[in-house]
Amino acid sequence: MDLALNHPDWGYYHTRDPFGAAGDFVTAPEVSQVFGELIGLWLAAAWQQMGQPTPFRLVELGPGRGQLMADLVRATAMVPGFLAAADIHLIETSERLRARQRTQLPDLAVSWHDELETVPKGPFFLIANEFVDALPAHQLIRTETDWAERLVTSDDHGRLTFTQGEAPVMLVDMVENAPVCEPGEIAEISPAREVLAKRMGERIHGDGGVAVIIDYGAWVDHITGDTLQAVRDHRPVDPLCMPGEVDLTTQVDFKRLGEAAAKGGAHVFGPVPQGTFLRTLGIEVRTASLLAKADEGQRRNLREALFRLTDASAMGEAFKVMILGQPGAPPPPGFGAPSLQGGQPSR
Ligand code: SAH
Repeated sequence: MDLALNHPDWGYYHTRDPFGAAGDFVTAPEVSQVFGELIGLWLAAAWQQMGQPTPFRLVELGPGRGQLMADLVRATAMVPGFLAAADIHLIETSERLRARQRTQLPDLAVSWHDELETVPKGPFFLIANEFVDALPAHQLIRTETDWAERLVTSDDHGRLTFTQGEAPVMLVDMVENAPVCEPGEIAEISPAREVLAKRMGERIHGDGGVAVIIDYGAWVDHITGDTLQAVRDHRPVDPLCMPGEVDLTTQVDFKRLGEAAAKGGAHVFGPVPQGTFLRTLGIEVRTASLLAKADEGQRRNLREALFRLTDASAMGEAFKVMILGQPGAPPPPGFGAPSLQGGQPSR
């Protein structure tokens, strides 16, 4: 998964612009400008609530085409002091997509990083939309007595195929407390995602700020099974068919992600369905004000975008929003008590 997505010469994100109608898949910021605008205003409200720390790091993980950040910046220009205090950091490994982000954000001072670690210390306000699902995952298969790891090999014709082998102890340790399951069942785990969540938790605990993590997935108590999916040209395809030419993701296990962040010291809020979150942020009101100024074609697009982002049959339920916040700070706008307390994961 890691090689197919991130190899510098032939990896998926390094060789193409996969987004939008002409690409392989459409993400929320590509559906509508309203998505990035509302997230920007929410972050600005969280920043005000925290006493307007200045300067702060405005961080995005995996900005794709840079659409969300462009919409966020435009919408928050009216919030006094916010952009002046923001020091923008984008985490992106693809040179090709970095160039695309540069053209999308022409007049801004922006720094790029390969990973979160190099973003300078200080309070951060972070957004990650459809980033976590692209970080590589492992699959462990339950056997009669233990766990094996699902691996990829090539068959006699040189085609990629699944096989299984001995599971590394480090991975088996991660499923030590997994709910009971039958031989043959698959548990997906992602050390890369958990390391990232823990680091975010540590930084928020130490320096303050919030992180907004949006992705498809759920908070579940059972093991997830095989969720590896490949998409090309807006259609599901065999994940092994064309490595480097198809998008690969697995569902985000928000429970494990939240527990890792709490271990790092952050409070965890939600996850809540994306539709609920966007309605709380006023997506209907914002859409209505755009509809008032729109022509017939634009009106159709706006209504369709609202539906796609919020309806349960589209992205509204499958996508979830989880917030990480600093213990001791008031709950972030629109949230009540944390679902996990920093430092003492309890569920
Ligand atoms: N957030 C964007 C794009 C999501 S696609 C949107 O919503 O439209 C995933 C993005 O993460 C791409 O920009 C990809 O190049 C980047 N990416 C994937 N794996 C990465 C990694 N390990 N480190 C840094 N960036 C990564």
